[in-house]
Order: sequence, then structure tokens, then C-alpha cells
Amino acid sequence: MEIVSVDPFYLKMPEITHAADGTQDTFLVRIRTDDGVEGWGESDASPLVSMAAYCCPMSHGNIINIRESLIGESVDSADDVRRLHAKAIRNGLDIQQIHHAYAAADLALWDIVGKAQGVPVYRLLGDGQSHAKLPYASVLFGDTPAETRELGEGLRARGYRAAKFGWGPMGKVDEETDIALVAEARAGIGDAAQLMIDAGIVWGEDADTAYARASAFADYAPTWLEEPLYPNAMDAYASLTARKPPVPIAAGEGAGQYRQAEDIIVNGGVQFAQIDVGRIGGITPAYRVRQLCEERGVQYVNHTFKSHLSVAASLHVFATNAEFGLCEYPAAGSPLSEGLASHVERGADGMVCAPGAPGLGVTVDIDAVREFHAPVRMEVDGTALGFDAP
Ligand SMILES: [Mg+2]
Repeated sequence: MEIVSVDPFYLKMPEITHAADGTQDTFLVRIRTDDGVEGWGESDASPLVSMAAYCCPMSHGNIINIRESLIGESVDSADDVRRLHAKAIRNGLDIQQIHHAYAAADLALWDIVGKAQGVPVYRLLGDGQSHAKLPYASVLFGDTPAETRELGEGLRARGYRAAKFGWGPMGKVDEETDIALVAEARAGIGDAAQLMIDAGIVWGEDADTAYARASAFADYAPTWLEEPLYPNAMDAYASLTARKPPVPIAAGEGAGQYRQAEDIIVNGGVQFAQIDVGRIGGITPAYRVRQLCEERGVQYVNHTFKSHLSVAASLHVFATNAEFGLCEYPAAGSPLSEGLASHVERGADGMVCAPGAPGLGVTVDIDAVREFHAPVRMEVDGTALGFDAP
């Protein structure tokens, strides 16, 4: 199959707020081949910055845009998808956001090869059967401990057996409030559920405070304490994890390429590596991180706060490892992220599986794409760098 078109789209809600809610807009890519197979992918990135990486004029041999790298290429196998990943990253050597931007194209290419071969993407990635994951509902803390408790009760009523609370007031008032937030989150979701705490990078490089909070939170038995420190505060992560806090430390969503994930795992010493396929450059590098986690006895878990196109793509990466049993599952998305693609539904047992249909296994709703599409016009010397409409 020959790649004949690569079209990036900017989708957004009518109004964008300052809330730490990544479902307010998205960056979507559609790739088509000469025999009519179509693939879709999504990046968790600033949409217009990413779009530039698809159409910016060539500056020299190390700044060549993604469309130029892909159009006219052949794509028939998993090896082709990996070869094209390497080609696009090499051609965009000096485009700083190239991995981030390319993620959507990588997802779309895996989707195409899976559809053409009639198999789900996890089968293209390796042998083995798919294992169900426990989805954890991912929400922000309420503005107060009492509101957090209500949120937890609501999730429990919706049947969630695991939930993560993050950001909001955590770390911004005092130690007593931090502990109250965790205590009320636990009270809301119940003792039988798994509870995760996302500190939202609030203690910066202060490993001592992160250690003190991890110790205080241990009474409420969280599965992990996530991102207590800045994503790149590697020395602070190393110092924190070397002290073996009583609650495991999780991080990795900030990894914008494989090397950053390797750094937080090997040097940062985290016990859970949280990888976002839409940030790290797609399924191709995320699968390498999964393999690194397997080698080092670290738990791989997805980070996903976008549509179910991204949820599905994330699941294919680690579907075949039975030991990696948790899945971040967006539980409070916008109409855009909820409506963009068919859902990876929870089963009667409350678990989720990588879709078994060919490709990524979810269907993009073209009407939703058109509803939220914000047309972008880029031109150089009066000539538009045009894309097809969705
Ligand atoms: Mg997080």
C-alpha cells in the first residue's frame, strides 16, 4: 500500500478554560492509502504546534516535515511502521516537538496495517493473548476534602473499583489539607477499591516533602503516589525512591520520547512507569518502554486523558502482559473526547480489554470530527499549505 494523504486536524470545544483538563481540544491525524485503507491517530499535545511539524517548509536536511516523510511511502507491515517512525524522526531531527507531533501518525499507521491484515494491533506487536485490565477512573480532586469524598462516592456508584484523584488543592495549602484530601478520597471510593494519588508535580524538586507526604498517605493504602516532583527532576526522584517510601512512586507521563522514559525508570527509580502513547511518539516507542519495564521489574501503565482512540491505542501496547493489570480510564471527558470515537467499554466484570477488531479497533465518528473541527489556514508567500477537510 502507498500512503497518498496525511491530514492533520485541530479539534476544540467552543470554550477553553484554565482547568487542567486535556480533553478540551485535540490533535487528530488521518492517513489514507492508495487502496482505500484509512487510519486515525491522536496526539496529546498542543494541536497547532504539532500541526506545524506536518507542514513546515524544509529548512535543511534535518528539518523536513512529517507529511513529506510519509506521502509516497509504502506501508504493509509492522516493520514498515517502525521504519517510517525512524525515518520521520530522523528527517525532523531539529524539530524539537517531532516525537510528540508524530505520535498521531504512528497510531494511524498501526491502525492501517492492522486493518489491512485483519488483526488487532496487539497481535502485530508480538505473540500472546490479550489480558483484561482493571480500569481506574481518573479525576481531579474536588476543591475541598468534602467535595473529594462526594466525587469518590459518585465513582463508586458508577461501579469503579479503582480511582485516581489528582492536582487541585493537593500541596497548595498545608500538610493537614493534603492528608484530609487523601482520607476523604479513600472514604468516598471505599476500602475495597484501589486508590491512586496524583500530586501533580506540586513539590517540584523537594524530595523531603514528597517523602513525608508518601509516609503520611500510607495510612490510606494508596497504590501509588504519582508525580510528586517535576518530570525532569531526576536527582530528586532518585533521592526519593532510594529512601524507599512506604507508598510506591509513579511517574513518566511527561516523557516526550523514549530516552526520557528510560531516564525516569533507570535513574529515577520509579516503580510504576506511566506512558502516554500520544506524547512519547506513538505505539512504537511505548512498546520499547514496556519491554524495558519487563526487563527491570517495573510496572507499566498507560497515561491517557484523551478520547477512546487513545485509550484503545494505549491498551494494545501492554495487552499481552498479564502482570501489567491497570489501565488509566478517562471518567470525566468533554463532549469532544467522549464523542470522537467508539468506546472501549467496561465489561460486566468491570474490566477493559484491548479491542479485538482489526487495527486500533475503535471507530472514529466523522460527524463528531466535523462538529468540533476548527479549520486552520497556514500560508507562505500567499500559498496555503493546504490539507483536505475531514
Ligand atoms: Mg498524572
